[in-house]
Amino acid sequence: MVKQLCILGSTGSIGTQTLDVVRSYPERYGVYALCAHRSIDKLVEQALEFKPEVVCIADESLYEPLKERLSSLSCKIWAGADAIAEVVTMPSIDIVVAAMVGYAGLRPTIEAIKAGKTIALANKETLVVAGEIICDLALRHHAPILPVDSEHSAIFQSLVGEDQSEIEKILLTASGGPFRTFSLEQMKTVTAADALKHPNWDMGAKITIDSASMMNKGFEVIEAKWLFGVPVEKVQVLVHPQSIVHSAVQFTDGAIKAQLGAPDMRLPIQYALSFPERLKSDFPRADLFALKDLTFEEPDLARFPNLGLAYEATRRGGNIPCVLNAANEVANLAFRQGRCGFLQMSDIISNTMAKAAFIPKPTYENYVETDIEARKIAESLL
Ligand code: MG
Repeated sequence: MVKQLCILGSTGSIGTQTLDVVRSYPERYGVYALCAHRSIDKLVEQALEFKPEVVCIADESLYEPLKERLSSLSCKIWAGADAIAEVVTMPSIDIVVAAMVGYAGLRPTIEAIKAGKTIALANKETLVVAGEIICDLALRHHAPILPVDSEHSAIFQSLVGEDQSEIEKILLTASGGPFRTFSLEQMKTVTAADALKHPNWDMGAKITIDSASMMNKGFEVIEAKWLFGVPVEKVQVLVHPQSIVHSAVQFTDGAIKAQLGAPDMRLPIQYALSFPERLKSDFPRADLFALKDLTFEEPDLARFPNLGLAYEATRRGGNIPCVLNAANEVANLAFRQGRCGFLQMSDIISNTMAKAAFIPKPTYENYVETDIEARKIAESLL
């Protein structure tokens, strides 16, 4: 049985690596729909290779050129956010790979869950913003959520055959990013180009900046809370610069189970698609003899305040994690555009969290309003 995929964010880092997996297993996976933001050249190339039924582009101004360039194919060409929210519900689709960047991934992920699709989740912002709604819907519509994030895949793999109630602690590893050893003084003057040089992982620009500021790890703490049903106090972040131990779980009897491997996103992507099976791969192997050290340090919240802000946002609950995400999206983009400094990003996020109106039990509509309001506040602080 060929499983049909809908890939949201097909031209991004996770999207293209998902297509690598599909290329290795054409007898198992088919590409039913490709959706991208605005990278039209790459999208056209992918459509010509994989011949999906639907090709969707978020930026509506690119609809005509896309249609023209794919005129040799018989596929449907759609454009806009409404189209993406609709494509995920198509009956032939088995798995939706949610790999869009940021808040934009929320609505299509919710629609895919409501349609009972299996979700291979790479878009962590979805769970940061609206974890409670996502988890409730997933239960109600029997939509499995399988983590693609390498750390959460590692935790998920460590939990196979285990009972969630026996988790004592989740040990979430972090590479520490390019500024792990920098002083606060040095961090004042770093540029986006410096931050985009991640030591171990090759990822998109937004997440690479989030990794450098450790907001990515803060988001992953919140993601772990929702995926594995543990309070954030039970999620311990460990800085592990070698990125070999992808994360671990400590159980109530004191045993620790971890998943190790070379840093290559194709492995967690493939596992999310093939679970509960493991498929053969030629991905690079971690050579344990070649590793001199496996080290673990406590994160420094004074130099990386974003991590503390993420814990604070979940503790306050309600719409505050949504505020955290919106302010971060504004600050992250501003930093990439040279409109704010590296350390200023945390100030913007923290001040936005202080100023935004608190909603204890938000509905989906409240999240939409919160996102707009928080972005305005964050912009005004730039
Ligand atoms: Mg990760």
